Amino acid sequence: MASSRRRFEKNRDRGKVLDKIDVKSMSFTELREDLGSLGLPAYRADQVFHWLHQGAETFGEMTNLPKPLRLQLAERYEVACAQVVRKRVSKDGTVKYLFRMNDGELVESVLMRYHHGISICISTQVGCKMNCSFCATGRSGFSRNLLPSEILAQIQSAQRDAGVRVSNVVLMGMGEPLDNYDNVLRFLRLVSCPEGMNIGMRHISLSTCGLADQIYRLADEKLQLTLSVSLHAPNDQIRSQTMPVNRRWNVESLLKACRYYAKQTGRRISFEYAMIRGVNDSDSCARELAERLRGMPAHVNLIPVNDVTGTGYQKSKMERQRAFAAILEAGGCTATVRRTLGSDIEASCGQLRRKHEGGDGDEG
Ligand code: SAH
Repeated sequence: MASSRRRFEKNRDRGKVLDKIDVKSMSFTELREDLGSLGLPAYRADQVFHWLHQGAETFGEMTNLPKPLRLQLAERYEVACAQVVRKRVSKDGTVKYLFRMNDGELVESVLMRYHHGISICISTQVGCKMNCSFCATGRSGFSRNLLPSEILAQIQSAQRDAGVRVSNVVLMGMGEPLDNYDNVLRFLRLVSCPEGMNIGMRHISLSTCGLADQIYRLADEKLQLTLSVSLHAPNDQIRSQTMPVNRRWNVESLLKACRYYAKQTGRRISFEYAMIRGVNDSDSCARELAERLRGMPAHVNLIPVNDVTGTGYQKSKMERQRAFAAILEAGGCTATVRRTLGSDIEASCGQLRRKHEGGDGDEG
C-alpha cells in the first residue's frame, strides 16, 4: 500500500531513471495492493501484471481494460522498456542487441540458440565499477544500476524482436550483478514467478567477479540458480593483476564463500576461466587450479579471452586450452573448453556499446 508506493517513488525522487512509479518492478502482491488503494478489484491487477510480464510496453496495448482506466494507469505508472537501437546477427544465429532505456542509457544483451533452447545474456548495470583488465565494459566507466524492470525488459524486447521464447537466462552481460544486489534479487523473483515469465531458477545463472560478502548473502537466500564465478586465475599474484576486486577479496576468501554457497544450496559452482596467452594458461596454473578446487563441487569453463582493443591480450591456442583442461581433469576437476558463439559480431560484453559511443575508434 502506501509503503510499496513510497518504495517505487524513490525512483522519482532520484529524478533520473523513470518519471513515474516503476510498475514493472512491483511484485504481484504489491501491484494488487497499489491498484486496490485506487479502488480497483484484484482481477485488474492480474490483468495488468499479465500484460506487463508478457512484454506490453504501453497501457494502450492492454485491450481488455476499459479505455479510461488505461489512461488513468498511464498517468500514474511508467513502463520501463528496452528499445532496440542496434542489432547484429551472427552466422551462427546469435543476435547481439544494443538497447536504449527510457532515460537514454544504453545496454547490451545477447540471444543465443542452443540445441536445448534459447538463452539470453543480459546486463544488470549501465557500465561497471570492477575494471577487470580484459573487459570492455569497465573501460566505459559506470553510469548506474538497472532497475528490476529494466533487466526484465531486455528479455521481453529480445523475445518480441526475435519471435522466440527464452528458456534460459544468464546474468553475464554488462555490470556486476552482486553490486546491484537488491534490484537483481527482485528481478530474479519476478522473472521466476508463476504469474510472470515463469523461468525457473534452475534455468538462471548469475555470474560474479567475486564479491564474497554478497555471495554469502545470496547463499542464504537458498535459490536454485547457478552461481558462476569469474575466477580467471589460480592465485592472488595473477588475479590481482587482472582483476582489481581480488585486492578486496582474494582467491582464498572467494573460494571459502563459494564452498559456503555450495553447502547452503546444494548446487555445483561454475568457474569461468578466460585463457590469456602467457598470463594464466601454463601447466602449473592448471595444476594449481585443480589443487585449489579439490573437494568442492565445481565445474570449470575454459574460454579463450576475447580480443578487446587496447588490452594487448591474446587468446590461448586451442591445443593449450585442451592441455589445460586435461590437467584439470587429471587433477579431479571437471572442465569444458567452451564453444564461443557470436565472435564475428563482437558478442562479448561491452564491445557494441563502446563502438556505438565511439569508444573504440573505427566502426565495425
Ligand atoms: N561482472 C560479472 C558478469 C559480467 S562479465 C562477472 O564478472 O562475472 C561476464 C563474463 O565475461 C565474466 O566471466 C567476465 O570475466 C568475462 N569477460 C569479460 N571480458 C572478457 C574477455 N575479453 N574475454 C573473455 N571473457 C571476458
